[in-house]
Amino acid sequence: MKIPKSHPRYRSLTTREKLVEACEEGILAVQGLIAHGRGESFNYLLGERTIPPADVAEEVAAAVLLDSERPVLSVNGNVAVLAGEEVVALAQAVPCQVEVNVFHRTEGRVSKIVDHMRQFSDIRILGENANAVIPGLDQPRGLCEQDGIFSADTVLVALEDGDRTEALVEMGKTVLAIDLNPLCRTSRKATVTVVDEVTRAIPRITDYVKTLKTDRNNIQSIIDPFDNKKNLEDAIQHICESLERLGF
Ligand code: ATP
Repeated sequence: MKIPKSHPRYRSLTTREKLVEACEEGILAVQGLIAHGRGESFNYLLGERTIPPADVAEEVAAAVLLDSERPVLSVNGNVAVLAGEEVVALAQAVPCQVEVNVFHRTEGRVSKIVDHMRQFSDIRILGENANAVIPGLDQPRGLCEQDGIFSADTVLVALEDGDRTEALVEMGKTVLAIDLNPLCRTSRKATVTVVDEVTRAIPRITDYVKTLKTDRNNIQSIIDPFDNKKNLEDAIQHICESLERLGF
Protein backbone atom coordinates (compact mmCIF):
# COMPACT_ATOMS: atom_id res chain seq x y z
CA MET A 1 0.00 0.00 0.00
CA LYS A 2 1.34 3.45 -0.94
CA ILE A 3 1.08 5.84 1.99
CA PRO A 4 1.31 9.58 1.18
CA LYS A 5 4.16 11.30 3.04
CA SER A 6 1.76 14.09 3.94
CA HIS A 7 -0.39 11.74 6.03
CA PRO A 8 -0.20 12.86 9.68
CA ARG A 9 0.27 9.23 10.77
CA TYR A 10 2.83 8.45 8.02
CA ARG A 11 5.39 6.88 10.34
CA SER A 12 2.88 4.74 12.15
CA LEU A 13 1.26 3.57 8.89
CA THR A 14 4.57 2.73 7.19
CA THR A 15 5.63 0.79 10.28
CA ARG A 16 2.42 -1.22 10.10
CA GLU A 17 3.07 -1.95 6.42
CA LYS A 18 6.62 -3.07 7.24
CA LEU A 19 5.28 -5.49 9.84
CA VAL A 20 2.59 -6.84 7.50
CA GLU A 21 5.26 -7.49 4.85
CA ALA A 22 7.45 -9.25 7.43
CA CYS A 23 4.45 -11.37 8.35
CA GLU A 24 3.92 -12.33 4.71
CA GLU A 25 7.63 -13.22 4.44
CA GLY A 26 7.38 -15.44 7.53
CA ILE A 27 9.75 -13.34 9.66
CA LEU A 28 6.94 -12.28 11.96
CA ALA A 29 4.20 -14.49 13.38
CA VAL A 30 0.72 -13.10 12.85
CA GLN A 31 0.44 -12.74 16.64
CA GLY A 32 3.26 -10.18 16.36
CA LEU A 33 0.80 -7.84 14.67
CA ILE A 34 -1.50 -8.07 17.69
CA ALA A 35 1.44 -7.34 20.02
CA HIS A 36 2.28 -4.28 17.90
CA GLY A 37 -1.30 -3.01 18.10
CA ARG A 38 -1.24 -3.33 21.85
CA GLY A 39 1.99 -1.35 21.96
CA GLU A 40 0.59 1.40 19.72
CA SER A 41 -2.22 2.08 22.18
CA PHE A 42 0.25 2.54 25.05
CA ASN A 43 2.48 4.66 22.83
CA TYR A 44 -0.50 7.02 22.38
CA LEU A 45 -0.94 7.22 26.13
CA LEU A 46 2.74 8.13 26.54
CA GLY A 47 2.39 10.91 23.95
CA GLU A 48 4.65 8.96 21.55
CA ARG A 49 7.74 10.27 23.31
CA THR A 50 10.31 9.13 25.82
CA ILE A 51 8.96 10.05 29.22
CA PRO A 52 11.40 10.98 32.05
CA PRO A 53 11.07 7.64 33.95
CA ALA A 54 11.97 5.80 30.72
CA ASP A 55 15.04 7.98 30.33
CA VAL A 56 16.12 7.04 33.87
CA ALA A 57 15.60 3.32 33.12
CA GLU A 58 17.50 3.62 29.82
CA GLU A 59 20.57 4.93 31.62
CA VAL A 60 20.27 2.17 34.25
CA ALA A 61 19.88 -0.48 31.50
CA ALA A 62 23.07 0.82 29.85
CA ALA A 63 24.92 0.74 33.17
CA VAL A 64 23.74 -2.84 33.86
CA LEU A 65 24.84 -4.00 30.38
CA LEU A 66 28.32 -2.57 31.02
CA ASP A 67 28.42 -4.06 34.52
CA SER A 68 27.49 -7.59 33.32
CA GLU A 69 29.85 -10.46 32.54
CA ARG A 70 27.75 -12.13 29.83
CA PRO A 71 24.97 -9.85 28.62
CA VAL A 72 22.80 -11.03 25.71
CA LEU A 73 20.29 -9.07 23.63
CA SER A 74 17.26 -11.24 22.83
CA VAL A 75 15.60 -10.54 19.49
CA ASN A 76 12.16 -11.66 18.32
CA GLY A 77 10.41 -10.99 15.01
CA ASN A 78 8.97 -7.59 15.99
CA VAL A 79 12.29 -6.37 17.38
CA ALA A 80 14.23 -7.58 14.31
CA VAL A 81 11.85 -5.82 11.90
CA LEU A 82 11.46 -2.61 13.90
CA ALA A 83 14.93 -2.20 15.37
CA GLY A 84 17.29 -4.86 13.96
CA GLU A 85 19.94 -2.34 12.98
CA GLU A 86 19.70 -0.55 16.33
CA VAL A 87 20.11 -3.87 18.21
CA VAL A 88 23.31 -4.61 16.28
CA ALA A 89 24.65 -1.12 17.07
CA LEU A 90 23.93 -1.68 20.78
CA ALA A 91 25.58 -5.11 20.72
CA GLN A 92 28.70 -3.59 19.14
CA ALA A 93 28.79 -0.69 21.62
CA VAL A 94 28.62 -2.87 24.76
CA PRO A 95 29.98 -5.34 23.25
CA CYS A 96 27.69 -8.35 23.74
CA GLN A 97 25.93 -11.21 22.00
CA VAL A 98 22.62 -11.19 20.13
CA GLU A 99 20.31 -14.21 20.16
CA VAL A 100 17.14 -14.72 18.19
CA ASN A 101 14.48 -16.08 20.49
CA VAL A 102 10.82 -16.16 19.54
CA PHE A 103 7.59 -17.02 21.30
CA HIS A 104 6.00 -18.78 18.31
CA ARG A 105 9.13 -20.73 17.46
CA THR A 106 9.66 -22.56 14.24
CA GLU A 107 13.20 -23.26 13.05
CA GLY A 108 12.29 -21.64 9.71
CA ARG A 109 11.27 -18.39 11.37
CA VAL A 110 14.40 -18.32 13.56
CA SER A 111 16.59 -18.70 10.44
CA LYS A 112 14.67 -15.98 8.61
CA ILE A 113 15.18 -13.58 11.53
CA VAL A 114 18.89 -14.48 11.70
CA ASP A 115 19.19 -13.79 7.93
CA HIS A 116 17.30 -10.52 8.38
CA MET A 117 19.74 -9.46 11.13
CA ARG A 118 22.76 -10.36 8.99
CA GLN A 119 21.96 -7.57 6.53
CA PHE A 120 22.99 -5.04 9.21
CA SER A 121 26.31 -6.54 10.23
CA ASP A 122 28.43 -9.65 10.08
CA ILE A 123 28.41 -10.09 13.88
CA ARG A 124 27.44 -13.61 14.94
CA ILE A 125 23.74 -13.95 15.61
CA LEU A 126 22.87 -16.85 17.94
CA GLY A 127 19.58 -18.74 18.03
CA GLU A 128 19.73 -21.42 15.36
CA ASN A 129 21.54 -23.95 17.55
CA ALA A 130 19.13 -23.98 20.47
CA ASN A 131 20.47 -26.74 22.71
CA ALA A 132 19.21 -25.72 26.17
CA VAL A 133 15.81 -25.13 27.75
CA ILE A 134 14.89 -22.39 30.20
CA PRO A 135 13.56 -24.22 33.29
CA GLY A 136 9.82 -23.80 33.81
CA LEU A 137 9.01 -23.24 30.13
CA ASP A 138 7.77 -25.91 27.73
CA GLN A 139 9.54 -26.53 24.48
CA PRO A 140 9.72 -24.92 22.00
CA ARG A 141 9.09 -21.70 24.00
CA GLY A 142 11.95 -22.34 26.40
CA LEU A 143 14.57 -23.27 23.81
CA CYS A 144 17.71 -21.17 23.74
CA GLU A 145 21.47 -21.51 23.21
CA GLN A 146 23.63 -22.84 26.04
CA ASP A 147 26.37 -20.29 25.29
CA GLY A 148 23.90 -17.47 24.76
CA ILE A 149 20.77 -16.73 26.78
CA PHE A 150 21.07 -19.87 28.92
CA SER A 151 24.39 -18.85 30.46
CA ALA A 152 23.88 -15.08 30.30
CA ASP A 153 23.87 -13.09 33.53
CA THR A 154 21.84 -10.31 31.93
CA VAL A 155 19.26 -10.58 29.16
CA LEU A 156 17.70 -7.60 27.42
CA VAL A 157 14.23 -8.42 26.07
CA ALA A 158 11.70 -6.30 24.23
CA LEU A 159 8.02 -7.02 23.53
CA GLU A 160 8.49 -10.11 25.65
CA ASP A 161 5.97 -12.55 27.03
CA GLY A 162 5.52 -12.30 30.81
CA ASP A 163 6.02 -16.00 31.39
CA ARG A 164 9.39 -16.02 29.74
CA THR A 165 10.49 -12.90 31.59
CA GLU A 166 9.52 -14.54 34.86
CA ALA A 167 11.35 -17.76 33.97
CA LEU A 168 14.54 -15.82 33.16
CA VAL A 169 14.30 -13.94 36.47
CA GLU A 170 13.75 -17.29 38.25
CA MET A 171 17.03 -18.48 36.72
CA GLY A 172 18.73 -15.64 38.61
CA LYS A 173 19.28 -13.45 35.57
CA THR A 174 19.02 -9.70 35.50
CA VAL A 175 16.28 -8.96 32.98
CA LEU A 176 16.17 -5.62 31.19
CA ALA A 177 12.80 -5.19 29.48
CA ILE A 178 11.61 -2.68 26.91
CA ASP A 179 7.83 -2.56 26.94
CA LEU A 180 5.34 0.22 26.29
CA ASN A 181 2.85 -1.23 28.77
CA PRO A 182 3.85 -0.45 32.36
CA LEU A 183 1.10 -2.75 33.64
CA CYS A 184 1.97 -6.01 31.91
CA ARG A 185 3.66 -8.97 33.59
CA THR A 186 6.94 -8.45 31.78
CA SER A 187 7.13 -4.88 33.06
CA ARG A 188 6.35 -5.95 36.61
CA LYS A 189 8.65 -8.97 36.67
CA ALA A 190 11.74 -7.52 34.98
CA THR A 191 14.66 -6.14 36.98
CA VAL A 192 14.73 -2.91 34.95
CA THR A 193 11.79 -1.93 32.76
CA VAL A 194 12.10 0.73 30.10
CA VAL A 195 8.57 1.96 29.35
CA ASP A 196 9.35 3.25 25.88
CA GLU A 197 8.96 2.31 22.23
CA VAL A 198 11.71 -0.07 21.11
CA THR A 199 12.99 2.12 18.24
CA ARG A 200 13.30 5.08 20.63
CA ALA A 201 14.69 3.06 23.53
CA ILE A 202 17.52 1.11 21.94
CA PRO A 203 19.43 4.05 20.38
CA ARG A 204 19.07 5.93 23.67
CA ILE A 205 20.50 2.97 25.61
CA THR A 206 23.34 2.81 23.06
CA ASP A 207 24.10 6.51 23.59
CA TYR A 208 24.19 5.96 27.35
CA VAL A 209 26.51 2.94 26.88
CA LYS A 210 28.91 5.07 24.83
CA THR A 211 28.89 7.87 27.43
CA LEU A 212 29.28 5.56 30.45
CA LYS A 213 32.13 3.69 28.81
CA THR A 214 34.22 6.87 28.94
CA ASP A 215 33.89 6.96 32.74
CA ARG A 216 32.99 3.62 34.33
CA ASN A 217 33.30 5.03 37.86
CA ASN A 218 29.68 6.18 37.79
CA ILE A 219 28.15 2.84 36.84
CA GLN A 220 27.38 1.51 40.33
CA SER A 221 25.97 4.80 41.55
CA ILE A 222 23.50 4.72 38.63
CA ILE A 223 22.41 1.12 39.22
CA ASP A 224 22.14 1.04 43.03
CA PRO A 225 19.37 3.58 43.70
CA PHE A 226 17.11 2.25 40.92
CA ASP A 227 13.75 0.89 42.09
CA ASN A 228 11.78 -0.73 39.25
CA LYS A 229 8.41 -0.66 41.04
CA LYS A 230 8.80 3.05 41.81
CA ASN A 231 9.87 3.76 38.22
CA LEU A 232 6.78 1.95 36.88
CA GLU A 233 4.59 3.99 39.26
CA ASP A 234 6.22 7.14 37.87
CA ALA A 235 5.45 5.98 34.31
CA ILE A 236 1.79 5.37 35.20
CA GLN A 237 1.68 8.77 36.90
CA HIS A 238 2.97 10.37 33.67
CA ILE A 239 0.19 8.71 31.68
CA CYS A 240 -2.43 9.98 34.16
CA GLU A 241 -1.02 13.51 34.12
CA SER A 242 -0.92 13.70 30.32
CA LEU A 243 -4.54 12.54 30.17
CA GLU A 244 -5.47 15.23 32.70
CA ARG A 245 -3.66 17.85 30.61
CA LEU A 246 -5.77 16.77 27.65
CA GLY A 247 -8.86 17.41 29.77
CA PHE A 248 -9.84 13.82 30.63
P1 ATP B 1 2.60 -9.98 29.43
O1 ATP B 1 2.66 -11.42 29.01
O2 ATP B 1 3.94 -9.42 29.79
O3 ATP B 1 1.57 -9.66 30.50
P2 ATP B 1 1.32 -9.27 26.91
O4 ATP B 1 0.58 -10.55 26.86
O5 ATP B 1 0.57 -8.00 26.68
O6 ATP B 1 2.16 -9.07 28.22
P3 ATP B 1 2.63 -9.65 24.42
O7 ATP B 1 1.38 -9.30 23.70
O8 ATP B 1 3.23 -10.98 24.28
O9 ATP B 1 2.55 -9.32 25.93
O10 ATP B 1 3.82 -8.63 24.03
C1 ATP B 1 3.60 -7.42 23.57
C2 ATP B 1 4.07 -6.38 24.54
O11 ATP B 1 4.98 -5.55 23.87
C3 ATP B 1 2.91 -5.52 25.01
O12 ATP B 1 3.03 -5.25 26.40
C4 ATP B 1 3.08 -4.21 24.20
O13 ATP B 1 2.67 -3.07 24.92
C5 ATP B 1 4.57 -4.19 23.97
N1 ATP B 1 4.95 -3.53 22.69
C6 ATP B 1 4.37 -3.66 21.47
N2 ATP B 1 5.00 -2.95 20.53
C7 ATP B 1 6.05 -2.35 21.16
C8 ATP B 1 7.09 -1.50 20.71
N3 ATP B 1 7.19 -1.11 19.43
N4 ATP B 1 7.99 -1.08 21.63
C9 ATP B 1 7.91 -1.48 22.92
N5 ATP B 1 6.94 -2.29 23.40
C10 ATP B 1 6.01 -2.72 22.55
